[in-house]
Amino acid sequence: MPRYDYILFDADNTLFDFDRAEREALCRVLSRRGYPVGEETLALYLSINRGLWARFDRGEIAQRELVVKRFADFTRAMGRSDDPAEFNREYLMCLGEGAYLLPGAQELCHTLAGVCTLALVTNGVALAQRGRFGRSPLKADIRWLFISEEVGASKPDPAFFQAVFQTMGLEKLERALMVGDNLLTDVKGGLAAGIDAAWYNPQGLPRSGDVRPTYEIRSYEELKELVLGPEDVQAPL
Ligand SMILES: [Mg+2]
Repeated sequence: MPRYDYILFDADNTLFDFDRAEREALCRVLSRRGYPVGEETLALYLSINRGLWARFDRGEIAQRELVVKRFADFTRAMGRSDDPAEFNREYLMCLGEGAYLLPGAQELCHTLAGVCTLALVTNGVALAQRGRFGRSPLKADIRWLFISEEVGASKPDPAFFQAVFQTMGLEKLERALMVGDNLLTDVKGGLAAGIDAAWYNPQGLPRSGDVRPTYEIRSYEELKELVLGPEDVQAPL
């Protein structure tokens, strides 16, 4: 018997290679709009965007406002005057086309789906996340997709997780595990909602703040062993 019956996965940088999708989508939109496409331009956008998502995680800015403001700030810093809402829409369309999985993600989900119910729980933007999920092979193994924009609450808000539990019919909270790369939204959020949480930390980053994950894992292999037990990891399903 697996240690958990339900695994809730974060999407970006837990199963999907968001960094790659983001860079490719940006390059495409920038060149289409006649911007210089280089490391400097990318770094400028990325730092503006990261700063705004950090504010979102702390509950200081709404997603709707954030996604437009990032391009308003960026185009202003570049000395241009593109319509930021239009810029964002175009970028999200491109982002939805890049469904790059991290190496091993598909095999991980396929193995776990043999014994657990899998869900994807993400704070991303619905337009981009639905596109990427629809194009990814994970669709076959992940039964549920929850996107904050559609749920009406976002990680780490317990209201987000409660909506997820209710929709999935998940009552035994001790049978569920949240897995994600973000200590605040995934780990702290999962713990606050009453389930165990594994911090996916492949780079071995130092743990910041006072969040205490139930587990810290460096690889998908560790996660499989954690859920299935060591003897079952190699067994064909
Ligand atoms: Mg993530």
